[in-house]
Amino acid sequence: MINSSLKQFSQMLAKKEISSVELTQVFLNRIDSLNPNINAYIALDHAKTLAQAKAADARIAAGNVAPLTGIPIAQKDIFCAKGWQTTCGSKMLANFIAPYDAHVITQFDNVGAVNLGKTNMDEFAMGSSNETSYFGSVKNPWDFDRVPGGSSGGSAAAVAARLCAAATGTDTGGSIRQPASLCGFTGLKPTYGVVSRYGMIAFASSLDQAGPMAKSAEDCALMMNVMAGFDERDSTSLNREKEDYTRDLNKPLAGLKIGLPKEYFAEGLDASVGKVVMDAIAEYKKLGATIVDISLPNTGLSIPVYYVLAPAEASSNLSRYDGVRYGHRAAEYTDLNDMYSKTRAEGFGAEVKRRILIGTYVLSAGYYDAYYLKAQQIRRLIAQDFVEAFKQCDVIMGPAAPSTAFKAGEKVDDPVAMYLQDIYTISTNLAGLPGMSVPAGFSNGLPVGLQIIGNYFDEARMLNVAHQYQQVTDWHVQMPEGLA
Ligand code: GLN
Repeated sequence: MINSSLKQFSQMLAKKEISSVELTQVFLNRIDSLNPNINAYIALDHAKTLAQAKAADARIAAGNVAPLTGIPIAQKDIFCAKGWQTTCGSKMLANFIAPYDAHVITQFDNVGAVNLGKTNMDEFAMGSSNETSYFGSVKNPWDFDRVPGGSSGGSAAAVAARLCAAATGTDTGGSIRQPASLCGFTGLKPTYGVVSRYGMIAFASSLDQAGPMAKSAEDCALMMNVMAGFDERDSTSLNREKEDYTRDLNKPLAGLKIGLPKEYFAEGLDASVGKVVMDAIAEYKKLGATIVDISLPNTGLSIPVYYVLAPAEASSNLSRYDGVRYGHRAAEYTDLNDMYSKTRAEGFGAEVKRRILIGTYVLSAGYYDAYYLKAQQIRRLIAQDFVEAFKQCDVIMGPAAPSTAFKAGEKVDDPVAMYLQDIYTISTNLAGLPGMSVPAGFSNGLPVGLQIIGNYFDEARMLNVAHQYQQVTDWHVQMPEGLA
């Protein structure tokens, strides 16, 4: 039952085979037994969650039903949810109860979905392994000695271990797709501006984008129908007509042109991951797609560019945590400046401090032109690579991450090795393009994700491309043994 699709859950609820309270309780029981070990959730509030389920049942009884009504969804702890502890994985916000709802939370509330709890994450979404969380690391359900990826590691483990029907995540440089690859499920980072960032705690505002993390492309499409849409409270929210992301799921793929960037199959890619990805491409050929060799020549510059721009934006966004407005405040200090510095020294972890220092440095007078401005110029070149590529193909495919899940502790002392986890995902954030990771097989028992990158606003087509593959493969419905 827990392995059902969102559509199947919805049908069970409609046919009254199960109530939302019962379904929610099934997941809460699972969470109570498995979460103490996996640590996917930071905040749980059974009473609040069950009250929402009860309200959903009343809605269903009244015939006021939307596709996700009554379905339990896990929310990344980066989204403010009224009355919920909202920490962003940081000690700085460990005592923060959000006074309002993020747009994404409101959208799920409006359709009567149930908030199961807030999921663990790297502190302020900075990381690729969930090991920077103040609330402890998260286990990969496929192998408890390994990381789930990050920064949306809690949502990733919750989806993979079936501790929720689906979850939300955010992706600034890869935080939906890399954990989707490492935990074996489907995750989509939409085009920048498609999902409102209102109430989503800011890391790097020009890159942050929320998206669905779920078992299948069809589930992601249903989640997108809830999450996407114009919101005047976010100045970068795009005012576009509402679309139905399920509309193209069943289109045949004959004639689809898939671009394979040579830079995504070069040195640095684990050979066994590369093989799984090429097997998936072979499956696409059988479905009628043709392959085009392309090049994204500036790929190698994407990590250095990101690690100038994202810290620059983060240093500005995180200046609000001063011990005055909200969150942690040092207990003892001599004057205002001492209060600021002690509060920030105590409240932020090492990776966050590293980023604030880098960001402040690249924005300082005398360095701005050499680093920040130069990075912005290269960012444009990276985006231009994709414009050229999409003249030759409909979608781009490659690996989502260079390796399968690595061992906990393996990269914590080597930031650059950790940063390289996002080598195939970061350029799409810099360009504002949508990208997804789709389960494509296993290497030594660990999941491998196929990345699909689409042109701007081409989410419906990407979901179609993923869904057709999921009609002929069953990687996306496999779940870790021993957790059933
Ligand atoms: N791993 C990248 C970082 O540490 C991306 C994180 C993200 O997408 N939020 O910044």
